[in-house]
Amino acid sequence: MTATVDWTALAATVAPQTGLLIDGRWGAGAGTHDVVSPIDGRVVTQIAMADGADVDRAVGAARAAFEDRRWAGMSPMDRKDVLVRWAQLAGEHADELAVLHALEMGKPAREAKAIDVRAVVRTLRWYGEAIDKVLDEIPNVGDSSWAQIEREPVGVAGAIVPWNFPLTMAAWKLAPALAVGCSVVLKPAEQSPLSALLLAELAMEAGLPDGVLNVVNGTGPVAGRALAEHPDVDVITFTGSTAVGRMIMQYAAASNLKRTYLELGGKSANVIFPDADLDKAARTAAWSVFYNAGQMCTAGSRLLVHESVYDEVMGLVLEVAAEMQPDNPLNPDAPLGAVVSAKHLGTIHGIVTQGLAESGSLLTGGAPVRTETGGSYYPPTVVDAVRPESTLAQTEVFGPVLAVTTFRDEAEALALANGTVYGLASAVWTNDLNRARRFSKGLRVGTVWVNCYEEGDLTVPFGGVKQSGHGRDKSLHAMDKFTDLKTTWIELS
Ligand code: NAD
Repeated sequence: MTATVDWTALAATVAPQTGLLIDGRWGAGAGTHDVVSPIDGRVVTQIAMADGADVDRAVGAARAAFEDRRWAGMSPMDRKDVLVRWAQLAGEHADELAVLHALEMGKPAREAKAIDVRAVVRTLRWYGEAIDKVLDEIPNVGDSSWAQIEREPVGVAGAIVPWNFPLTMAAWKLAPALAVGCSVVLKPAEQSPLSALLLAELAMEAGLPDGVLNVVNGTGPVAGRALAEHPDVDVITFTGSTAVGRMIMQYAAASNLKRTYLELGGKSANVIFPDADLDKAARTAAWSVFYNAGQMCTAGSRLLVHESVYDEVMGLVLEVAAEMQPDNPLNPDAPLGAVVSAKHLGTIHGIVTQGLAESGSLLTGGAPVRTETGGSYYPPTVVDAVRPESTLAQTEVFGPVLAVTTFRDEAEALALANGTVYGLASAVWTNDLNRARRFSKGLRVGTVWVNCYEEGDLTVPFGGVKQSGHGRDKSLHAMDKFTDLKTTWIELS
């Protein structure tokens, strides 16, 4: 079905909102900003940009909506209906949402529809359906008292999201926050506001009351900072880089001690033992770092392979690298799209160049391609014999760049796998159940995959440890971020 969409024609006609959404109305901001497509370097459209005063208006609208309980006070069944209707509308507008992804951040439109939009529809529906199934608690405290523990929405949530999965990241935050009754101010990444604006438009159409969801496009240092520093925001839920996550905690500490939840960077490893299904392990490991042009917090950017199977594994990895060459994201067969911007292309290439100067040898890739298009494309890049302490083994590249290191035994593999400041995810490939369990226990990460990568669904939480952040998206646990526990103790006479 997806293959029949003419993405190029749709890209020429799609007309998303470009304003700020505040209190149910679309309007101008303090400035404007060109959305530049990494497909060809052309300006797609201009969007309104918020300054501190605009953010203040958005937070004011969210606060007013929260205080008069126009949303939090609705019956759970009615709130559920709105979220489920929103999910339905997102599904009906899947093609437009997907093509906006392609235009603003360079992901193949086909993939954006099959993966990102599908994830959004499922997330909105899942949390909508959960609303009236999460119960409060009444502990047994004896005959003379009655105690109850209620979850109450914290109030106004600020959500700051990155550009790499613009809609999925937004949905992972909006759905649980709205499900529990919070009002939200969303700040999309300046590179990828368009799909988020269409999603917000659909929320209005689904019946979300005015002021409950507000969207402020803007830069991080202006709009993002204003949101994170705002004294009337109760919680910031953030996905982005570790460097900015650090700042978010400082803003919170310096303002009203709002709680912060940070989903940050990673340097995840695929660890391949000789007894694994090597074909599946090698192909999946390669896919896990090249997919989305490596712009994934969970990118399997390190390959740790037992020295005895190095040749076989690397042969397969290079086969996948050759198959996943970048192409125009509007082409229905593009295996890989563009990277998000010319600036990011330069960052990726700079890290590769620096890394190669330190250690390792380049097996494939290593320089921008399709430069004649005016777009930003980087091919699958593989560097082997990377020293564990060097840049390519330690720095999050956020591009399709794989650093390969060999190991001799399990203890060495575990030390290498844990040997970065990050702790988001890792995969272990082995057919020995005891080793799989032992190794999983030893990994200091939020998610371990055994004989697979990127598997999961909405029932399981997602997030990191160490400098990959804290707090969890997805699952019922995500709702905890947006609720306070209130105890009411009643003494009976
Ligand atoms: P980024 O940190 O530069 O930007 C993320 C968001 O923060 C954007 O909306 C940006 O405008 C905003 N921002 C920037 N400076 C700010 C400031 N001073 N105050 C407030 N907000 C500010 O990250 P990015 O380049 O957009 O995204 C890539 C990063 O996101 C990678 O490090 C990646 O690993 C991480 N990421 C993590 C997860 C996860 O769940 N752990 C998921 C996706 C991406």
